[in-house]
Amino acid sequence: MLPLFEPPPPTPLDDAACRLLQVRSIYAEPEALATPRGQQVLGRFPDARVVEVPSHWQIPELHGNEGNVERWVRVKTETLVLGVKKSLSARLNGRSSDFIAPSTANGCAMACAYCYVPRRKGYANPITVFTNIEQITRYLRGHVGRQGIKTEPDQVDPVAWVYDIGENNDCSVDALVSDNVADLVATFRTLPTAKASFATKLVNRQLLDLDPQGRTRIRFSLMPEQDARVLDLRTSPVGERIAAIDDFVEAGYEVHLNFSPVVLREGWELDWAELLRRLDDEVGAPFKAQAACEVIMLTHNRDLHEVNLGWHPKAEEVLWTPAQQQPKRSQSGMWNVRYRNDVKRQGLTRLQELIGEHAPWLRVRYAF
Ligand code: SF4
Repeated sequence: MLPLFEPPPPTPLDDAACRLLQVRSIYAEPEALATPRGQQVLGRFPDARVVEVPSHWQIPELHGNEGNVERWVRVKTETLVLGVKKSLSARLNGRSSDFIAPSTANGCAMACAYCYVPRRKGYANPITVFTNIEQITRYLRGHVGRQGIKTEPDQVDPVAWVYDIGENNDCSVDALVSDNVADLVATFRTLPTAKASFATKLVNRQLLDLDPQGRTRIRFSLMPEQDARVLDLRTSPVGERIAAIDDFVEAGYEVHLNFSPVVLREGWELDWAELLRRLDDEVGAPFKAQAACEVIMLTHNRDLHEVNLGWHPKAEEVLWTPAQQQPKRSQSGMWNVRYRNDVKRQGLTRLQELIGEHAPWLRVRYAF
């Protein structure tokens, strides 16, 4: 008798990924709890207590900036929220993607000092999973269908409509919580005119099993290690992200790089040159043949600056540099700061020169 086929076991999580989420409480809208996806999340964390809430937006004990970083990290580690995404729409983007897909999650278990994701729920925001994934993927299939064929190549992609699926979240962490990311990858696998795309700072090797067949672009976010050590809290080390690149290409992902945020501080040029040389040495020809990057200069925020001063003033030494920054009112009415036009222009030009010098195979999709 032939042995029964046994699917390969899922790639085990490394310790760092396991430490990110030790869920004890799940705050859930009743409607979300009733969905199969909501039940799947409960099944993954069977020991968590469930607290019903009327809305994922209003959970005072979880959201906001009160307290300190230990509390926020505890909230991010030990709590999840389940909600239903009510209004579905795909917004025009034109930079990292053609469209921003409707969110399947917001919030993050990591804690980067410059992160803009907490701007609505506060720094302590844990991951909210939207459980109406069938509705969201159905909406996406319809939206892609309505675009027809992409006839005008643009910097985002020459032929595919690209949808960012991780605007307010990191999909590599979300994939630890539920199959939402797997479902999105599977959806785009069947859409020959479109691609999913997300930037990430975590290496989750379970994503290698998802068989994206070139229809998902993962953008590994990189910065010099000296910056990442101060700013990229709870993320995978930069060396680990670089080491994962070839494996993700081999697994069928399109892999791009996201140089973001670029922080201009004393010595930045030397450290970026070192990062680019390291990339040139350590990644393989198949990655280089399809590689592209986006370059995004730091934008910071006055409120976030105040929050960070309370727990991580060292980060503010490099993030808040008024002598070279100017204020700018964001679309949502917040006061952001970004590098003065002349400083930014010089920085972008210099970084692109460094890329040309040390990683000439790396096409810059856009620099902003
Ligand atoms: S990984 Fe991304 S979403 Fe998460 S804290 Fe860092 S910048 Fe924010």
